[in-house]
Amino acid sequence: MAREGRIVVVGAGIGGLVAALLMAARGYETIILESAEAPGGKMREVLVNGRYIDAGPTVFTMRWVFDEIFDAVGASFASRVGLTRVDLLGRHVWGDGSQLDLYSDLDRSADAIGEFAGAAEARGYRNFSRRAEEIYRTLQHSFICASRPKNPLSLVARVGLTRLPQMMAISPYATLWGTLQGHFRDPRLQQMFGRYSTYCGSSPFSAPATLMLVSHVEREGVWLVDGGMSRLAGGLRDLATERGAEFRFGCRAKRIIVERGRRRGNLEWRRQRVRGGLARRRSSRCDAERGAVEEFALRHDVGNGGKDGWVSLGASQRVLRRRLSRRI
Ligand SMILES: Cc1cc2nc3c(=O)[nH]c(=O)nc-3n(C[C@H](O)[C@H](O)[C@H](O)COP(=O)(O)OP(=O)(O)OC[C@H]3O[C@@H](n4cnc5c(N)ncnc54)[C@H](O)[C@@H]3O)c2cc1C
Repeated sequence: MAREGRIVVVGAGIGGLVAALLMAARGYETIILESAEAPGGKMREVLVNGRYIDAGPTVFTMRWVFDEIFDAVGASFASRVGLTRVDLLGRHVWGDGSQLDLYSDLDRSADAIGEFAGAAEARGYRNFSRRAEEIYRTLQHSFICASRPKNPLSLVARVGLTRLPQMMAISPYATLWGTLQGHFRDPRLQQMFGRYSTYCGSSPFSAPATLMLVSHVEREGVWLVDGGMSRLAGGLRDLATERGAEFRFGCRAKRIIVERGRRRGNLEWRRQRVRGGLARRRSSRCDAERGAVEEFALRHDVGNGGKDGWVSLGASQRVLRRRLSRRI
């Protein structure tokens, strides 16, 4: 059903692609501005010795997220993006020649760790895995699939007072590194599991121990995308296009203007006119993310010669978080 309202999504990374798909499928006129020449953002390929390889993400987890997104727009993820589930989660090799494989099967990984570093370390791994799962279960619906909590108290309220012990066990104030010392004595294992913090560009010395939940996420399933991760970006672009979204590559949003300081904290903003220079205040990136009413002054004209503007969407991540609660 076509709806009144135009949406501009800035950036065709995974967040922008999903935002655009969901908005277009809901019937909004949706335009995606991407400064690069192709979709994907960090999910990109580089040419190495004549072959394209993934230069960004390689580990595809939480497949159910994409199943739900595709489902929500009346498409099948499985039939659009080829995936192969893998049992071998990772092969880790150290300079001294030692090597350790981790598997989706916990017992198999524990055995491998036992052989690699001894029975105590295998027990440490089992404890670590149990705790990682507990943290994941506590945060799955209250945080991972929910909108960002206003503050720690609102997160506690979501989790529920009766589950306060589980809440404390997510270890937001302990560092990942400190917690790893308690589970493993072998520095190679501390180093290996410390890498989970790098998944969000952080350091194990400062990242919260909460991130150990990644270990559980990986054990729940890692898939390889047939043809490389960029196929996922391509699949989303194609589907969004089919649902009516319009992509403009090589087009960079230059600035965001807040008109008359109005805020609507919502994704479905009404069509407004761009009146360059009328803005009282220029929005910062942060304002955009908080959902201020923004309009884009673009290097490339948007709409009909810049007369009519497009209401912006600077909160693609939020769409991802809201996807579960809002069906088309
Ligand atoms: C090396 C590496 C490995 C990773 N490995 C994994 C992994 O294995 N598994 C995993 O789940 N995650 C992984 N990640 C994290 C994952 O890649 C990112 O979380 C995710 O891709 C971010 O998507 P995004 O849409 O938020 O941002 P981006 O991918 O950064 O997309 C932002 C897009 O916006 C565009 N843009 C920015 N400004 C403008 C503008 N003004 N106008 C127009 N366009 C604009 C950019 O060109 C870009 O395309 C990895 C990240 C890196 C760097």
